[in-house]
Amino acid sequence: MTFDLAIIGAGPAGLSMVRALADSGLRIALIEQQSASALADPPFDGREIALSLRTLRILRESGVFDHIPADQVFPLEHAIVMNGEDRHPMRVAPLRGKSALGALVPNQQIRRAVWAAVQGQQGLTLFDRNRVGAIHTAADHVEIELQPVAEGGEGAAVEPAPVSIRARLLIAADSRFSDTRRKMGIGADAHDFGKTMLVCRMQHEQPHHHTAWEWFGIGQTLALLPLSEHLSSVVLTLPPHEMQALLELPDADFERDIARRYQGRLGEMRRAGSRHSYPLIGVYAQRFVGPRFALIGDAAVGMHPVTAHGFNFGLHGVDLLSREILAAVRAGTDIGAPERLQRFEAAHRRATRPLYLATQAIATLYTDDRGPARLVRRLVLDASSRVGPLRLAIATALSEEGLSLRALLPALPGLRGT
Ligand SMILES: Cc1cc2nc3c(=O)[nH]c(=O)nc-3n(C[C@H](O)[C@H](O)[C@H](O)COP(=O)(O)OP(=O)(O)OC[C@H]3O[C@@H](n4cnc5c(N)ncnc54)[C@H](O)[C@@H]3O)c2cc1C
Repeated sequence: MTFDLAIIGAGPAGLSMVRALADSGLRIALIEQQSASALADPPFDGREIALSLRTLRILRESGVFDHIPADQVFPLEHAIVMNGEDRHPMRVAPLRGKSALGALVPNQQIRRAVWAAVQGQQGLTLFDRNRVGAIHTAADHVEIELQPVAEGGEGAAVEPAPVSIRARLLIAADSRFSDTRRKMGIGADAHDFGKTMLVCRMQHEQPHHHTAWEWFGIGQTLALLPLSEHLSSVVLTLPPHEMQALLELPDADFERDIARRYQGRLGEMRRAGSRHSYPLIGVYAQRFVGPRFALIGDAAVGMHPVTAHGFNFGLHGVDLLSREILAAVRAGTDIGAPERLQRFEAAHRRATRPLYLATQAIATLYTDDRGPARLVRRLVLDASSRVGPLRLAIATALSEEGLSLRALLPALPGLRGT
């Protein structure tokens, strides 16, 4: 049971890492608590993932995109950001020479596609229905104890015996609440926004013109993610007790309530999918690496969804770390060498930290309904609308050609100098 690499978590990030190393010749162990059949056919979870142009390019180059049906890719051509009743929204258009800001793809389709892309990959061994027990780090390897999930789930009478595997490098991609991160003694800064996000597909009378909305209202935040003609994903952020009441409404009342929140701008609205809710918690790991260990995906950076960067960042980390690993393989050197891991950490932190802080500030400022916050956000949006370079910075960041939302930072209160 000896491998070059062990990856914990077969979510979008873990599977993308497997795929990125397809031609490396490495023996990879992939450890996942769910069954292979659940991974092959993931349920619809309501998330429509806004993919940046950079992410789309990586997915195309890795062949993952070939597994996404064309009718599940929805162009994202424009975005508008509105503040309460203000009449002048900030409009974001594609960069010169580009026809779109990115594309929306259901998370279910991403999971399915990246799973399909690794099937039959040479050197890959899947340990599904397994969780991780004790982890011991030695100078040249990591020893990982696997604890098979008992048939019949928690509380089943007979627990199968644990198995141990050994690898030269361990990568954790086991979500923002990463158990492995904690086991490896790495802390994380977590911020609970105290809000819940609803996502639900709805049909509406008026067209969306492939324009995404972000609408910071009083007591709620609304977004609209444009899918096919007259079909969008409604995204609503509310305090948890209000959300619970909304989730329990019968369909007709729910539809009326949502149409009212959008002030009838989309005409009548009909539920076209299941309702899903997510607690809003942002997480940033204090370190991304340790001896023979690295964090990727949400386990490293768990973003608030408002700026739609979570998976985009996940793929960015995969890209950086896989390049280091592939370079080590080509040079015949250690794939877990500290200097390689540190290079990955420094580059990923540089790309993600400013955006993580900016997103925290946006999410906090725009859900604060007190007078001063309302005034500040109106000023920020006003400035953003009028100052061309700032709008360009936002379009660039959404498209993620260079992750340059950093240019936006001076406009966000409390972030100067970060
Ligand atoms: C409402 C919403 C909207 C979003 N919109 C966007 C968007 O527009 N754009 C964007 O880029 N991102 C978006 N995101 C973020 C995106 O969905 C996540 O960043 C992405 O799914 C994270 O992938 P991951 O593989 O790191 O983690 P996960 O998807 O959480 O996968 C983790 C995997 O690890 C497994 N696992 C966990 N613990 C263990 C264990 N102990 N042992 C074994 N296996 C384990 C789990 O079963 C799972 O398969 C959104 C998120 C939400 C909630």
